Amino acid sequence: MRRPRILIVPVGKAVGPWLERLMGQLAEAFIAQIELAKPIPYPLPAFNPARKRFFAHLIIDYLREVAGNVDFVVGLTDVELYSVHCNSVICETHFQARSAVISVGRLRDFLFGEKPEEVFYQRLYKEILRALGHMMGLPPCSNPHCVMYPSLSLYETDLKSSSFCPECLLKLRLRVGPLPFLRESG
Ligand SMILES: [Zn+2]
Repeated sequence: MRRPRILIVPVGKAVGPWLERLMGQLAEAFIAQIELAKPIPYPLPAFNPARKRFFAHLIIDYLREVAGNVDFVVGLTDVELYSVHCNSVICETHFQARSAVISVGRLRDFLFGEKPEEVFYQRLYKEILRALGHMMGLPPCSNPHCVMYPSLSLYETDLKSSSFCPECLLKLRLRVGPLPFLRESG
């Protein structure tokens, strides 16, 4: 059976040592072909000078275009994003397009503790899991420990776990059908 392809695309200057770790961890969690694209330039038509931010939905469309026929595409960017609903968003996902964008820069807000880089990385991993969950058809989850919980702040993101709760795991299996997409440990 063909493995689903997940393409990660750095947009602008969203690169760092965390990227390699992320690719490795995604490959461990999903039975999928995880691919890393070369960084693409900022899509300038998506920039709104009045807001000094990029329009997330345009970036999502753009990512879908550049991704070709991969099953899921996730863009990671260092710039700030806004959506139709919100002046500042960390992650925007489009279910039908199977495309998402995450503002990696925003995940560096309010870092704390002795290992701030680790806090940042865990936030990123949770955001990407949630984006993939949504693109696979999972709705938001009311369990505050579940990765699908729609955190309203980074504080809530820090509190939740980086895994799907049993209910979401079941939904995911029902949605994805016979394809063993998530590894059992994931
Ligand atoms: Zn859940």
